[in-house]
Amino acid sequence: MRSRSRLTGFFRLGIGERRRQVLEASGLPEHRLAAIEPGALPLEVADGMIENVIGEYSLPFAVAVNFVVDGAEVLVPMAIEEPSVVAASSNAARLARPGGFITEATPPVMIGQIQVVGIDDVDRAAVALRDAGASLLEDARRLVPRLTDRGAGPVGFDVRILARHPGPDGGVVVAHLNIDCRDAMGANLVNTLCEALAERVARIAGGRPALRILSNLTDGRLVTVRCRIEENDPEVRAAVASASRFAELDPYRATTHNKGIMNGVDAVLLATGQDWRAVEAGAHAYASRTGTYRPLAIWRDDGTALVGELVMPLAVGTVGGALHSHPAARLALELAGVDSAGKLAAVAGAAGLATNLAALRALATEGIQRGHMALHARGIARAAGATGDLVDRVAAELSASGDVKPDRAREIVARLKEFP
Ligand code: NAD
Repeated sequence: MRSRSRLTGFFRLGIGERRRQVLEASGLPEHRLAAIEPGALPLEVADGMIENVIGEYSLPFAVAVNFVVDGAEVLVPMAIEEPSVVAASSNAARLARPGGFITEATPPVMIGQIQVVGIDDVDRAAVALRDAGASLLEDARRLVPRLTDRGAGPVGFDVRILARHPGPDGGVVVAHLNIDCRDAMGANLVNTLCEALAERVARIAGGRPALRILSNLTDGRLVTVRCRIEENDPEVRAAVASASRFAELDPYRATTHNKGIMNGVDAVLLATGQDWRAVEAGAHAYASRTGTYRPLAIWRDDGTALVGELVMPLAVGTVGGALHSHPAARLALELAGVDSAGKLAAVAGAAGLATNLAALRALATEGIQRGHMALHARGIARAAGATGDLVDRVAAELSASGDVKPDRAREIVARLKEFP
């Protein structure tokens, strides 16, 4: 059987042939690609999505190839403005074959916060709230009977004392309502339940209800992604493992290491219509959970292979949010063959671990600028007016000159057009 995601030489093809291969690999009918034609989002729909709309803003939509996630061949949809992310993740995914990326995830549990202020005795409030926890959970479950019937919905209740001493807010306690949101990101669901419970929670605590909203530190909704890259060169293995340890030792490096992970994660989130700000906020807060900012993924040399592991919160949904209205986001989910939030989190996490590996390998070996500049040069060549074959010729000359700048590109384009 033809591999669904191992599309050799995909990057060399024209857009038409790439589309043909993607349709063949995904089994989708051709008309579904209307969703990613320029102008596919009707202006009236855009106007209904946010406020003060005056137009639309486009980004390139691509698929990263070669991915195997939990044994399944996956085309990974990506929307991103930065060159080399799609190429780098496709390369890393090829290295990770045949085992590919293996994932596991916690249940998709989000945290809703109900803050209570002006409490005289926070210890008594905490005991009273814990005693009432089961009954509060029952109240919450009754509000979402369909989710509850499916074994999801409100699943836990915690209390945390935040301020003991009388300050501007008096004694402060926060109740956490843990909600299994299944295939929704869940912000609206969580917020609705927090609002519904707030009065009762405040009464039991003996204070005033204040904020009631989800937490974006979704540490109850984690995905773990592992992969193993056979690598014969002991120097490459050692260099990648050393680059990982650098990130483990230094928040300045860890931030850039994690940015490389988010290159892949965000590109998938954007393509699939997710709230990537929510995931970003959660990822960085989770990276700091020990009090020091740490890498979300680490790499080890096991003597014959590089073994990578990413753990991060990924609050995503395959129902709700922008998916109601955005045709390209729905197509992206179909291309990826993703029908649940858990599978989407697995694919986004795999993309993140792939871009992380690609960056570390490049940094640890040839230095990242060479590959990056080669791709950047193609963009500069196009912007300078190169089309067709000329793009590669101009890009090659730009890269060789080491001066990848628009002025230089315009000179080369003019010369090659005059003297082809
Ligand atoms: P939503 O409001 O569209 O609700 C999704 C609904 O889908 C659920 O309430 C449920 O009734 C229904 N549903 C159908 N099938 C389901 C299934 N299999 N599993 C779960 N639910 C199913 O979407 P949402 O996920 O509640 O909210 C996400 C939106 O909220 C995003 O657009 C986000 O940007 C926004 N938001 C985020 C924040 C934040 O992160 N701080 C705050 C407010 C709003």
